[in-house]
Amino acid sequence: MDCEIISIGDELLIGQVTNTNASWMASEFSASGIVVRRITTVPDDTEDIINAIQSALEKNKLVVLSGGLGPTKDDMTKEALCIYFNVSLFLHQPTLDHIERLFGGRGIPVLQKNRDQALIPENAIPLTNIHGTAPGLWFEQDGKIIVSLPGVPYELKALVTESVIPRLVESQQLATFFHRTILTQGMGESLLSERISRWEDNLPVNIKLAYLPQPGLVRLRISAHGTDRNLVIQEIDEQVSRLEELIPELVFGYDNDTLESVVGEMLVKSGRTLATAESCTGGYLAHLITSVPGSSRYYKGSIISYDNSIKEGLLGVNKDSLVKYGAVSDVVVKQMAESARKKFNSDYALATSGIAGPGGGTPDKPVGLVFVALAGPGETVISKYTFGEHRGRNIRRSSLAALNMLRLELYRLLSLGDKGING
Ligand code: ATP
Ligand code: MG
Repeated sequence: MDCEIISIGDELLIGQVTNTNASWMASEFSASGIVVRRITTVPDDTEDIINAIQSALEKNKLVVLSGGLGPTKDDMTKEALCIYFNVSLFLHQPTLDHIERLFGGRGIPVLQKNRDQALIPENAIPLTNIHGTAPGLWFEQDGKIIVSLPGVPYELKALVTESVIPRLVESQQLATFFHRTILTQGMGESLLSERISRWEDNLPVNIKLAYLPQPGLVRLRISAHGTDRNLVIQEIDEQVSRLEELIPELVFGYDNDTLESVVGEMLVKSGRTLATAESCTGGYLAHLITSVPGSSRYYKGSIISYDNSIKEGLLGVNKDSLVKYGAVSDVVVKQMAESARKKFNSDYALATSGIAGPGGGTPDKPVGLVFVALAGPGETVISKYTFGEHRGRNIRRSSLAALNMLRLELYRLLSLGDKGING
């Protein structure tokens, strides 16, 4: 089923609001086998909206609009739909009841313009918006489907998952489409593609591979079309296992997993604790770790030793080492990690020190140079990375690299079983 998404709103066209609705819908629709062929953005203007609908319907069976359904004067979508279908509005009583309940529940008086949200085009099937007042609108004409949804992201998401996709599935318009995303860390896209090229070349024709690189990690999405759901899932699972055999140390999770959640689970499973000492990541590593619910079970805390005096005073890094090797060095990052491990009395400690940029680079220590150390019961492991020029990405990549070092250590620990390791 081919689809066009039309995003409506002046705020999108002046760059004030990022069009997350379109990208979110595109990913949900693709996962359901709907092929999104075009995403269009138009202003809050009746004529522009009508033209966009007309053009979208020429090539697509499904057209989904978002935004402009609200109660204010700048919301033109309903008016545009009425003109397009040449229909008028009628009062949909169940929607009015819903609006009154919603306002009553919050103790807010209902204004006429709120009541007007229960006015819907005569040919529309309303889709209940549990989180808001503007219902979604579903139209069918000449074998085509037009859906209009409110712009508020959480209202739109609930309508898509609870009404739009189930309705499309019910009408049996969707062929089976399934995909699985494999999350990898530790190798760039180009090297990775070389390493798996033979597997990729031998994929069956109905199975597609997409590389989705992000700063610090590469996601591999394997997708397939088919008529038999179980068969498609089985085929994908087989390819996923083959791929994993080729890159076992790089795969850290699937679909919506994150490196920090996976590392968190491994810490819980192994009963180990973690602390951090951060210089160039400035607390971002701690933020990633603590964004996982339940991280208090394994995470002790961090010292953000941004200035050398803190490295020396709070972490006890040797002054001579700081002078002789500089803060961005294997010697210093090792001392930071080992000291944090002792001070926090944790099983492991990660430390970062690097030149995040954009300034501060020298010929022998360029921007993007980062040292990460992992102190644990055994020998401290130190890695040196040379990332890029971009400060934000360097901070993120350093933090992910640190988490990945711990992941590999815990992977070894957990696959050895507890026998081999004594703190
Ligand atoms: P409301 O009933 O709240 O007025 P609406 O259907 O009229 O809803 P808009 O007025 O277009 O929707 O947008 C409401 C809010 O939703 C905007 O303030 C904007 O922040 C957000 N929004 C709108 N469109 C998008 C979009 N495409 N992506 C992300 N956010 C959006
Ligand atoms: Mg609005």
